Amino acid sequence: DKITDKIAALPADGEYFSLEFFPPKTQMGFSNLRVRLQRMERALRPLFVNVTWGAGGSTAQKSIELAELCQRELGLTTCLHLTCTNMSQAMVDQALQDARALGIRNILALRGDPPRAEYRDADEPTGSEEFTWAIDLVKYIRKKYGSYFCIGVAAYPEGHGDGSHPEGQSFEHDLPYLVDKVQAGADFIMTQLFFDIKAYEKFETTLRDDPSGAFKTIPILPGLMPIQSYAMIKRTAKLSHAEMPEEIMARLNAVKGDDEKVKMVGVDILSELIEQIREIKSRTPGPRGFHFYTLNLEKSISFILERTKLIPDVPEDEEAVVDEPVPAAVT
Ligand code: FAD
Repeated sequence: DKITDKIAALPADGEYFSLEFFPPKTQMGFSNLRVRLQRMERALRPLFVNVTWGAGGSTAQKSIELAELCQRELGLTTCLHLTCTNMSQAMVDQALQDARALGIRNILALRGDPPRAEYRDADEPTGSEEFTWAIDLVKYIRKKYGSYFCIGVAAYPEGHGDGSHPEGQSFEHDLPYLVDKVQAGADFIMTQLFFDIKAYEKFETTLRDDPSGAFKTIPILPGLMPIQSYAMIKRTAKLSHAEMPEEIMARLNAVKGDDEKVKMVGVDILSELIEQIREIKSRTPGPRGFHFYTLNLEKSISFILERTKLIPDVPEDEEAVVDEPVPAAVT
């Protein structure tokens, strides 16, 4: 199914969420994730799941394997991430054909690592000249596959900040390129993780009010990462160019020696963030979505979804099967 069709089928005041997973390196890791995904699918009922792609195609086979498990075996609507820099056109074609063969209708079209000449070995193939920015991939997919794929693109509420353009650490710098990406054919937007609600609110309202009109109705999914450990979240926030508000840092600092407490305070913090996103005034009519970077973990995200009542009810026809097994003959 296409994500946008599933969103359109929800009530206008409804909510939905997606869960992101990365392909494990080992067979053992893969088996563990299979069991976890089965549990999560039944208990949490995401609208769709995302499968990440290693930059340059480094996880191509494993990403396709995980996407197959999600889409085919578990019947989950799956969005395959695909990067384009340092990828040959043949690799991009292969990935798109594999996705289509599995019945996958959704691609998150990304650039991947910035193509920095100084990191390249002179003898190494530099990939296709065709793909420099994510927009090149969006255009390529539209040209080759028409409307077969529903295409998502990435956006950065606090600016991209990978150092490739030091002058541009704000999302305002990225905005014209994001307009172009949407106008080239993107159907939805997923954001980088953030903890600063003010930055996200400014980002979303600016997009919705943009005079280009490109963002008037397009689904925008804020990206949220459960806090799994003190050291990890500090590192991730820095790498992602996400500001940690002082108030949030103070709460984490108070429990930083105790991993379990960090996780539980993290559940509080994320649940509050979701409430604050729900209150953003700019929200355009239509269901509100959330994207979760799960890091393949189950516990924190389950608590957060339960706390914020984001888990959808079981449809009535399925409920009968789940809750009321046909009784043995009553005599
Ligand atoms: P682009 O849209 O090309 O933008 C990159 C930067 O360049 C932006 O600052 C933009 O403003 C600027 N820019 C765009 N066009 C131009 C232009 N014509 N001239 C000058 N500047 C321009 N990475 C992976 O490797 N695998 C994944 O699975 C993955 N999943 C992700 C999921 C999400 C939701 C997000 C937010 C990111 C993900 N990434 C992933 C990271 C992503 O690949 C990197 O952040 C990458 O550096 C930028 O990708 P992009 O698609 O945003 O690029």
